[in-house]
Amino acid sequence: MSKNWRPATQLVHGGTTRSQHGETSEAIFLTQGFVYETSEAAEARFKGETEGFIYARYGSPTNDMFEKRMCMLEGAEDARATASGMAAVSAAILCQLKAGDHIVAARALFGSCRWVVETLAPKYGIECTLVDGRDLQNWEKAIQKNTKVFFLESPTNPTLEVIDIAGVAKLANQIGAKVVVDNVFATPLFQKPLELGAHIVVYSATKHIDGQGRCLGGVVLSDKEWINENLHDYFRHTGPAMSPFNAWTLLKGIETLPLRVRQQTETARRVADFLAEQPQVAKVIYPGRKDHPQADIIAKQMTGGSTLVAFELKGGKDAAFALQNALEIIRISNNLGDSKSLITHPATTTHKNLTDEAREELGISAGTVRFSAGIEDSEDVIEDFARALKAVKA
Ligand SMILES: *Cc1c(COP(=O)(O)O)cnc(C)c1O
Repeated sequence: MSKNWRPATQLVHGGTTRSQHGETSEAIFLTQGFVYETSEAAEARFKGETEGFIYARYGSPTNDMFEKRMCMLEGAEDARATASGMAAVSAAILCQLKAGDHIVAARALFGSCRWVVETLAPKYGIECTLVDGRDLQNWEKAIQKNTKVFFLESPTNPTLEVIDIAGVAKLANQIGAKVVVDNVFATPLFQKPLELGAHIVVYSATKHIDGQGRCLGGVVLSDKEWINENLHDYFRHTGPAMSPFNAWTLLKGIETLPLRVRQQTETARRVADFLAEQPQVAKVIYPGRKDHPQADIIAKQMTGGSTLVAFELKGGKDAAFALQNALEIIRISNNLGDSKSLITHPATTTHKNLTDEAREELGISAGTVRFSAGIEDSEDVIEDFARALKAVKA
């Protein structure tokens, strides 16, 4: 397999293995187990002397193709596909920690990710400090003798803040800690955390990788040594394995990832520019616009904008609800990365469990709205916004 393939080619051909039938499209191997010709063959497989699968909780052919394709795209040596994004995040963090260790995490995290580090980890004696990740000094100040993991998401959900991944990696390397990056919002096309110095990358494949709203999935990627020493046994024995059916759906999904993300990014960029001109809108946050507060870091670490736009309506919750309710093409949903354009009011849905204070820290106000661009014609999406904004007082 050529390492020199460009991403669009990797995503169509990477990792494909064919059965004796020579099928064009990847096959789904919906099997729990595998049979051995002889007792000796079974013994050799269990001793690790021969290559091959043992049990679908450990690995299976369709999942293997998905993992290899993701490795190629990410530039990672090894990967494990998981049943959901949260299975990937929790496995990546917990597999390498024990009681007495310490995590430093950016406070702007996807809700369940924040629960894992803030609420779950401490139950097992793993301490966690949450910081405003935009300032590298905050990461440095939070370091303790027992700090083992730095965890961040960039751009963040929902306000699209950006964190200097190379800067965080440099701090981590000084103390021998590992950096785990949740790269969902950037997509594997626009940001390569491993090249920036991060050690482990996780995805919710549920989002852009499936991209058509069908199945849950996740993936953890890193170097072979880290996977073997940390994730390998944890993954086998705790059982977050992805269904082969979902691995197949996701394999077909990533074939079209570059086409979809290109169209979504184009629409998101146009929507951001359109919204910035509207009297009802107080503020637009879009990585890729010159007025993004961290445009300098974006230029350093991202090769594309985003498929998401965050904006704030002057009229608060009433304005946000009126806008959402008046939209016809863009659907109200907490999901993102779908081929259908979606809109969310974080304060009453995805971020409703945070305290008012925590929401304020994250820049989520009553008027904050998150838009996830689909693959519809950009013109129709903008017309939908233009029509719906008429229902919102300026
Ligand atoms: C959706 C999401 C997750 C969780 O993924 P699931 O597939 O829903 O479990 C984690 N991190 C980010 C940034 C997400 O958007």
